Amino acid sequence: MMARFRVNSDGWCDGVVRLPSPNFDVRPADTKIDLLVIHNISLPPGQFGGNHIADLFTNQLDCDAHPYFNQLRGLKVSAHFLVRRDGKVLQFVSANDRAWHAGVSSYCGRERCNDFSIGIELEGTDFEPFASNQYDALIALTHALRSRYPLTDVVGHEHIAPGRKTDPGPFFDWMRYRLALQG
Ligand SMILES: [Zn+2]
Repeated sequence: MMARFRVNSDGWCDGVVRLPSPNFDVRPADTKIDLLVIHNISLPPGQFGGNHIADLFTNQLDCDAHPYFNQLRGLKVSAHFLVRRDGKVLQFVSANDRAWHAGVSSYCGRERCNDFSIGIELEGTDFEPFASNQYDALIALTHALRSRYPLTDVVGHEHIAPGRKTDPGPFFDWMRYRLALQG
């Protein structure tokens, strides 16, 4: 069976929709990309569908479209990938480059996790389960990324920015994800 995703040497993935974001820069020289960071996002919070997340990551969000968006005005953020509720995957930044997803963060004493991590957003919230299609896509994507990068761990944003971030939250099924990765 042909793999669903394949990450090319340029850091862009086959099998996904590419929506290049200007919100990235180069990683520090000789950085080993060894960490995967899982997030959740929905815009407005708790509402799924639409293009608001992709618009945010490409600096095209109409901040007048919803009262919540007011606080996002001028924000420059991105993730490498977004997994939508139906399992469709969007890519905004080459995994070779540094996306702006983690913010102030620390992993095992190493600060600035953006430097050495790949960020995957799941369309979702802290308050309800993620979709089966999202787990399937996330697992396939993780396998593809592992084939290209020396990833040694997967963490949630909440684990590298405790007290500041809560995603992917209590409804992300780490057991399901980790077991599937082993299988
Ligand atoms: Zn996050």
